[in-house]
Amino acid sequence: MLDHTADVIVVGAGAAGLSSALQLALRGQKVRVFDQGALASGSTSRASGLLGQLRGTPEATRALVESVRILKELEARGGVKLYGQTGSLRVANTPERAAEVRYHYKLGRAAGLDIELMEPADAARIIPFMRTDDLLACCFCPTDGYLDPPNLAALYIRLAREAGVEFHEHEPVEALLLPGGRAGGVRSAQGKYTAGVVLNASGPWAKLVAEYADTPLPTLPIGHYYFTTAPHPAVSVPPETGTMRDRELRIYARPKDGGWRVGIYETAPEIFDMAQLPPAYMSTMTASKDHPSLRTLIENAAHRFPFIHLDTPMEIKGGIMSFTPDGHPLVGAFDAVPGLYHCTGFCGHGIMQSPVIGVMAAELILDGTCRFDLGRIEADRFTDFPELRDPAVVAERCKATHWGYYGTIETGPAPV
Ligand SMILES: Cc1cc2nc3c(=O)[nH]c(=O)nc-3n(C[C@H](O)[C@H](O)[C@H](O)COP(=O)(O)OP(=O)(O)OC[C@H]3O[C@@H](n4cnc5c(N)ncnc54)[C@H](O)[C@@H]3O)c2cc1C
Repeated sequence: MLDHTADVIVVGAGAAGLSSALQLALRGQKVRVFDQGALASGSTSRASGLLGQLRGTPEATRALVESVRILKELEARGGVKLYGQTGSLRVANTPERAAEVRYHYKLGRAAGLDIELMEPADAARIIPFMRTDDLLACCFCPTDGYLDPPNLAALYIRLAREAGVEFHEHEPVEALLLPGGRAGGVRSAQGKYTAGVVLNASGPWAKLVAEYADTPLPTLPIGHYYFTTAPHPAVSVPPETGTMRDRELRIYARPKDGGWRVGIYETAPEIFDMAQLPPAYMSTMTASKDHPSLRTLIENAAHRFPFIHLDTPMEIKGGIMSFTPDGHPLVGAFDAVPGLYHCTGFCGHGIMQSPVIGVMAAELILDGTCRFDLGRIEADRFTDFPELRDPAVVAERCKATHWGYYGTIETGPAPV
């Protein structure tokens, strides 16, 4: 008879589910991972791949510092090098943004990052093809960088397989088994699979999986685009070129195969309803240069990188991010359904967060506690906000979070 048991079942083989499955298996758990499509075929395969550790709160920044440390540990375990530690620049071209850069510098220092303020002329040495004559302030974090998300997923999958994880590819989870009101497994077209713990790591679809157990997750699927230029005959982009963020122009950039990848957190993004899309929709998501998102992206990129213009040969990619009302992910269980954990809503940062998220999920599931401060990311933190049962309110809050992600000018007292 086929074995349909496990200690933990993970729904979703993206960065979050894979990292969690790996960490659980390394701690001796029998883990099965289900994906409705190919492994890592969701937002993980669409991500730009920037890793920036500096976030708006010291605890989130510390978690990302830990993420980079775990990533390096996984690289050593797998005998591969994925992380390009090029350093990252933040640039500012208005007095308000310059104050923000100085605030970020203090925030980074307080969280233990080796971040430094930098003159625009020095920033030009890091990205020689970047326009700097309008810059008022910059800061540089030498331990930031980038990687290619499909390669990270491949490493998770290989290490997880070696640790005994079983994968069920192209096998959508169609229902959760909830004997006595607690998680007991999942059902797919192939039958029932039992486990004492189920981890919902199904990315932008997580809200739909959570609905099987009547645990509402206030998330919104939001579209996101970037392009990668073909190598330019006159503009060299070596792989060690630093990454950058220009919050005023709402763009970020990194090197990619001799070209330059630029993405945008635009002001009026596309909103999606995952229930209405074919499961593989994201895998082919692109846009033409006259799509409103692309027009702004190319215009803003051209301002900062003058070699870029409308006729620049480029590959355009899009994908769907999962946003929450406060910009923090949703990690953990609801009291009402013991044994069902959620791990989603990474608001555009799930790749860089995934190494530490896996450790957090494993600790939470196996130890009932976690060495990291989970206060701001607990999955059930919105339970006492009845207004968030209204999808329209959730959508408005999540859109505001997305807008503010680059739109808000972050300042505050010197952090401790
Ligand atoms: C265009 C773009 C650029 C990005 N750039 C960056 C970046 O530079 N840095 C960064 O850190 N993050 C970035 N992100 C965000 C990052 O990609 C996500 O936060 C991360 O991939 C989320 O991983 P996940 O495992 O939660 O979800 P996903 O990777 O989407 O995985 C969820 C999986 O669940 C599966 N699934 C869904 N429903 C079911 C079901 N019923 N049964 C079985 N399986 C199911 C899906 O098929 C999917 O494979 C970007 C995202 C996009 C879209």
